[in-house]
Amino acid sequence: MKPRDRLRIAMQKSGRLTEPALELLNRCGLTFRQSRDKLFCFGEGEPVDLLLVRDDDIPGLIAQGVCDLGIVGRNVLSEFQLTAGTEAAPLAEWRKLGFGRCRLSLAVPQDLNYELPGQLEGMRIATSYPGLLGDWLARQGVKAGVVTLAGSVEIAPRLGTADLICDLVQSGGTLVANQLREADVLLESEAVLAGPAVLPTDERGDMIDLLLKRLDGVIQVRESRLLLLQTSRHALDAVTRLLPGGPQPTLLPVAGQPDQLMLQALCAGEVSWRQLEEIKKAGAREMFVLPVEKMLA
Ligand code: ATP
Ligand code: MG
Repeated sequence: MKPRDRLRIAMQKSGRLTEPALELLNRCGLTFRQSRDKLFCFGEGEPVDLLLVRDDDIPGLIAQGVCDLGIVGRNVLSEFQLTAGTEAAPLAEWRKLGFGRCRLSLAVPQDLNYELPGQLEGMRIATSYPGLLGDWLARQGVKAGVVTLAGSVEIAPRLGTADLICDLVQSGGTLVANQLREADVLLESEAVLAGPAVLPTDERGDMIDLLLKRLDGVIQVRESRLLLLQTSRHALDAVTRLLPGGPQPTLLPVAGQPDQLMLQALCAGEVSWRQLEEIKKAGAREMFVLPVEKMLA
């Protein structure tokens, strides 16, 4: 294959991952010229182009060297890794991207009383993920029939072609609509940046490096929250213990109230209402949680 001097990233042409993937790349300073109904988008500022394909094709395109990187669900990447065979170039998950979250789960009809994987011995399980399911069954030491279906897996039990299913679940709405109940989780999934296990060391490797650094910045800022609150010196220890992970908080005096402190902490993730309520109970007040726009350490 002719060596390329531009980086090529594969992403889903149309589906759940399309908008968030494009937004993430835009935030990394990458913009593309072609309209999105085309297969190929030419990168404007940086030498990085996009290939828009079905998500199932993304790992294969990277393994063949047609693309350097891809944005794809961990479920699709892992399935490829388990089924591609030893001759395919090994792939790796280079970054977790924090969107497209879902689970690959076993779901059983409401009247099947599932407690342990051992119960599945001899049953038929419908799935689009025979690799991941087969691997899990083997690890559990269970022999069950795997019925591979490309889509509409959830109706298999009603059609009598399987006893239960193994499929992606997000809210669980589809399961309820099909009188199924989530019984066990095989894989927690989200969109990831996939690439070859060994990154190239040439100029394209340098570009990948640059992109990874920008991605890290974007992801860190996206997940960061600035927590501001007021506390008495007396309650400071109790409040600090409850702060969600992150570097040491900054403490500032409050004018005219020597026993009070203003506390400022950068939190690594979302701060929930429940966490806020706990911190308040420990003695904090005037609490604010602010998104972080940009960060330069
Ligand atoms: P394509 O035409 O590209 O093959 P698709 O129908 O396989 O599309 P989508 O339904 O758009 O794909 O899902 C893409 C990815 O989004 C999944 O592989 C998974 O990682 C993630 N995802 C998140 N939530 C769900 C969900 N509830 N159902 C299916 N996939 C989900
Ligand atoms: Mg698909």
